[in-house]
Amino acid sequence: MKIGFIGLGNMGGGMAANLARAGHTVQAFDLSEPALARAVEAGCSRCATAREAAAGADAVVTMLPAGAHVAQVYRECVVGAAPSSAVLIDCSTIDVATAQVIAAYAADQGYLAVDAPVSGGIAAAQAGSLTFMVGGPDAGFARAEPILAAMGKAVIHAGGAGMGQAAKIANNMLLGATMIATCEAFVLAKALGLDLATFYAISSQASGQSWSMTSYCPVPGVGPETPADRDYQGGFATALMLKDLKLAMAAAQDAGASVPMGAAAEALYQAFVNGGNGALDCSAIIRLLEGRGA
Ligand code: NAD
Repeated sequence: MKIGFIGLGNMGGGMAANLARAGHTVQAFDLSEPALARAVEAGCSRCATAREAAAGADAVVTMLPAGAHVAQVYRECVVGAAPSSAVLIDCSTIDVATAQVIAAYAADQGYLAVDAPVSGGIAAAQAGSLTFMVGGPDAGFARAEPILAAMGKAVIHAGGAGMGQAAKIANNMLLGATMIATCEAFVLAKALGLDLATFYAISSQASGQSWSMTSYCPVPGVGPETPADRDYQGGFATALMLKDLKLAMAAAQDAGASVPMGAAAEALYQAFVNGGNGALDCSAIIRLLEGRGA
């Protein structure tokens, strides 16, 4: 299959490489020459423009920073350049409202389009083990599913247009809140004199258990190996967590949903980012709670 791929950064680079590895012809474009050169090295073909990447494609995948980039690329480069038989798949994490506007615009122009944001970071993008949450019509999901399967371990149809983004930000709001709550529990346990490995052994099998505790423990030397054991390098960057929390807060406001825990998580992650910690893994927020991060 001929697949246009636009946005070959930290995530898109690995994803495009996996499509090439699966035998697809990947017509790749990025504004960044080093990103494009890495994709070519990984088996993609070089395109001089995003329009060229979309031309003649059976599918066009975008993996861009935010909604404004996706809207611009769809309007100026993809729609019109890709054949109307192409399925358009946006894997970026963007706001629900923009995802729905883009989907309506693409449908108006005769395209099948889906939003398909991912769970899993750079390592999962490289390993082809992402989870995709897909919003769009059944026919769009059916077309996108085998393409996404070549880049991930799970592809789930979340509902109509924008519902992939809705699932992504609701999930990441939950992650932000549970990560902070898990960090707080460790801070309290330590202050009370409890051994932290003992607390982990108990809580990971008790009612306080969560993914943040059991699989992503924020305390170095406790539980399975996590970014905490690498001085909070790698993993899911605090700046991206804050981005997703902001998207969740904006969507909650639009929808009239009450999300006080999400709002508290956003404020704490904002303070941690303001302290210059945006590049650290999101579990490093324990430092803020210990009075070391602002
Ligand atoms: P990134 O900044 O590394 O990559 C984005 C790429 O898009 C860059 O290479 C940039 O040059 C390119 N780009 C921007 N505008 C363009 C345009 N008009 N035409 C062509 N290329 C353009 O970002 P990333 O970490 O790869 O993240 C991409 C998306 O995935 C974001 O929406 C992010 O929120 C989401 N995401 C990231 C992670 C992660 O761990 N990094 C995890 C899940 C989801």
